[in-house]
Amino acid sequence: METSPVLSAEQHLLGKTSGPTDNWETWWKLQNSFICPPVKPQEQNLCEKHEEKLRLFCAEDQRMICVVCRESKEHKTHSASPVEEAAEEYKVKLQEWLRSLRKEEEYKLKSKVKEEEQYKATKDRLRTEKKKLESEFEKLQQLLKENEKTLNEKLEKMEKKINMVENANITKLTNQITSLKALITEIEKKCEASAWELLKDVGSTLSRCNNVKLQCLEMVKSYKGKYNQVY
Ligand SMILES: [Zn+2]
Ligand SMILES: [Zn+2]
Repeated sequence: METSPVLSAEQHLLGKTSGPTDNWETWWKLQNSFICPPVKPQEQNLCEKHEEKLRLFCAEDQRMICVVCRESKEHKTHSASPVEEAAEEYKVKLQEWLRSLRKEEEYKLKSKVKEEEQYKATKDRLRTEKKKLESEFEKLQQLLKENEKTLNEKLEKMEKKINMVENANITKLTNQITSLKALITEIEKKCEASAWELLKDVGSTLSRCNNVKLQCLEMVKSYKGKYNQVY
């Protein structure tokens, strides 16, 4: 951080005068005079006490006095100078203050601009970050949706395939159970019937029994195929 021009100017001024205490007092009085300018209702430039013209300036008391005051006990030991002379001296001091205050003003204005620029830059950066984040989230959401859709489609396809195979198998099994039942009933009857009835068409009965056996083998094969296909 740079040092404030006013602070350095003040140090400069302090070094120039007789004593720091005196200078601070001057400074304090100057400050107060800026805030509350003295208002004198009575005739200007006249001593309140002696009604003489205020021609002198007492350096210790930092105020104007008249020639009678100058000789009084109060001011006798003080250093006084003609008002015009004192005015010149203070004018120089004030002008020096003015220079440093103007510098301070300029410095503060520059600092303000800098601060504002920094603030704007930070705000812009934040906004960009926010937008970036939003777009990344959007992309992720899109990706998730697409993944969900693909997976759902795959599952639906799988379900359809399973349903198809299962339905076909159930139908097949139902038919087979029906024919098995018929065959069992037929064989039961044959066993209880006469020799002539038993031997009549026995070749056809045995051939159907063999067909059932073949069907069973075929079923086992198709089951294996089904599960290999789906998973
Ligand atoms: Zn006086
Ligand atoms: Zn005095």
